[in-house]
Amino acid sequence: MTSDELHPETRAIRAGRADNDTALAPILWATTTFVTPTVEEGRRMATGVGAARFYSRYGNPTVNGFEDAIAQLEGAETARAFASGMGAISAVVLGLCSKGDHIVAQRQLYAGTQLLLQTVCPRFGIDVTFVDATEPGAFAAAVIPGRTTLVFAETPANPRLDLVDLAELGAIAGPMTVVDSTFATPLVQRPLDYGVDLVIHSATKAIAGHNDATLGVVAGSAELVNWLYSFAVLQGANASPFDAMNGTRGLRTLGVRLERQSANAGELANFLEGNAVIEEVRWPGLESHPQYELAQRQMALPGGLLTFDLSGGLEAGRVFVESLQIAQLATSLGGPETLVTHPASTTHVNLTAEELEANGIRPGTVRVSVGLEHAGDLVADFQQALAAVTSLR
Ligand SMILES: *Cc1c(COP(=O)(O)O)cnc(C)c1O
Repeated sequence: MTSDELHPETRAIRAGRADNDTALAPILWATTTFVTPTVEEGRRMATGVGAARFYSRYGNPTVNGFEDAIAQLEGAETARAFASGMGAISAVVLGLCSKGDHIVAQRQLYAGTQLLLQTVCPRFGIDVTFVDATEPGAFAAAVIPGRTTLVFAETPANPRLDLVDLAELGAIAGPMTVVDSTFATPLVQRPLDYGVDLVIHSATKAIAGHNDATLGVVAGSAELVNWLYSFAVLQGANASPFDAMNGTRGLRTLGVRLERQSANAGELANFLEGNAVIEEVRWPGLESHPQYELAQRQMALPGGLLTFDLSGGLEAGRVFVESLQIAQLATSLGGPETLVTHPASTTHVNLTAEELEANGIRPGTVRVSVGLEHAGDLVADFQQALAAVTSLR
């Protein structure tokens, strides 16, 4: 059986082992440099692309193993790992765009990406137009032929789990199309299959999956990723071999973790929906999600992220997240522990009321990264925290 004939969960268990010799687990190549056999070989590695045994900012066998695994899972020709998701995103934006270029990006984005596009791009003469990505045709309508170099999407998007139609995005001709697929992982959707040019992950999240690695990755055609490589070597946001090792380790269990997290999120979403102090619950697996049909079409699983709005505003949000006893207040996602964030008071605290509204964040919005605990314990925990909110009235 070739790798392509295997199910993705099986591939995730086998991929990224090329440099392992007979070791089953990834080997940690904790070296910054490699002995070069000849001058000619040294020149080839210094000037070529993807040298794995020259100098670790250029490449490293542990990191290459992780990159190969992601490329295989995304159906990409190649991949490049970075020191973080933002390392990957800034390399794509600043490595592929130049002064005078134009980017179309969706308004509902991870806060770091949004800040990069809003504050760094203008300093380099790169214009950005933000669109509501849930509106059909919004990306294509904002493209300026001959000037737009990049269309940047995130799906599911932080924090309301809005979706972008991957087929529609992949059909845009002209600019390069990019998807931040962090919330989905390669086992839930494969944007490149729809004609999207590059897929990005913050592997810090579900891919590494244990809150112990800060890691990013970009996958796509060899032509594009190799073009990025020369920028990445100078940018210096290369992945640490230790984090890449944990990335490959995390991939081995990604399939089962996603199933459990999706199932747990479903239990919580059903429990929360219809509760008197909750205005809306967003989870791609709920029929009430405005893009439920699209989720069914392009996502293999709804995933472990869910977002809901408490009536009662900021104070209700604060009391809820501080009353939880099993779920913990921390900003990350995709790990074993259930984590909650209250965007209005934390990640998005710098936004004006209008910007918050445009980003789909209400004062009582709570985002949950559902973990691997027993669903019954999570439901009980949320129940007692909701009781604390109700007693505010
Ligand atoms: C966390 C995250 C990022 C940034 O990744 P880091 O590894 O923290 O730099 C980018 N996009 C999304 C959707 C994320 O969740």
